[in-house]
Amino acid sequence: MLEVRALGSRYGRIPALADVNLRVGAGELVALVGANGAGKSTLLRTISGVQPASAGTIGFEGRDVTALSSRRRVQLGIVQVPEGRQVFAPMSVEDNLRLGAFARGRASALDEVIGFFPVLRDKRRQAAGLLSGGQQQMLAIARALMAEPRLLLLDEPSMGLAPRLVAEIFEHITALRARGTTVLLVDQNARAALSVADRAYVMEAGRIALEGAARDLLGDPQVQRAYLGLE
Ligand code: ATP
Repeated sequence: MLEVRALGSRYGRIPALADVNLRVGAGELVALVGANGAGKSTLLRTISGVQPASAGTIGFEGRDVTALSSRRRVQLGIVQVPEGRQVFAPMSVEDNLRLGAFARGRASALDEVIGFFPVLRDKRRQAAGLLSGGQQQMLAIARALMAEPRLLLLDEPSMGLAPRLVAEIFEHITALRARGTTVLLVDQNARAALSVADRAYVMEAGRIALEGAARDLLGDPQVQRAYLGLE
């Protein structure tokens, strides 16, 4: 579904990604792990088109999307849940969801999407900024689902959440995947991300350092030392 080849990206003169090669097959849940500043968010943002590529190509379902605007990419089904949720705080939960269907999807999917996140049901008319962090994360994911993503890019969904909520968010991600949504997931919580993923890539200093089956990476002593807090 997604084929990233020799991708580069820069912030001015500073390179943030170099020679990144990555694939995501239809129906897969692929995790991207690595230390702070390794380039994970930049990679997701370059795939969604928010950040321009300086080299390489991004193929999506057989089509080169490297030069397309982020809006066009959304229309093709590449939908990102940004780091930090970025919900529209003064707007109601319902209006945030409707906005998710602005470029793609159906506003009529609202009940279906809310059914997937029951905690949002009673809060439909509340301002999104009044929700708890965990609820805002659910809203950010739900808003993306309104666009009926073919490929969902999830950036740090568990950031800043209590362990119980992290477990709940990961249950939702697993359920999404079971529904057939293809997911590329970035999370600081490498153990949780590798536990739900099929395959994973480890990034270091803007490059892919390792890749493999998520189960194998969970058991890899190098990964355990560097990212899982095990000696
Ligand atoms: P984190 O988990 O901290 O978000 P990350 O792996 O997602 O880390 P990126 O946020 O993609 O990493 O950052 C990659 C590199 O690019 C870092 O060196 C970072 O300082 C730099 N960077 C990120 N955003 C910008 C920006 N807007 N302007 C300049 N440099 C940036």
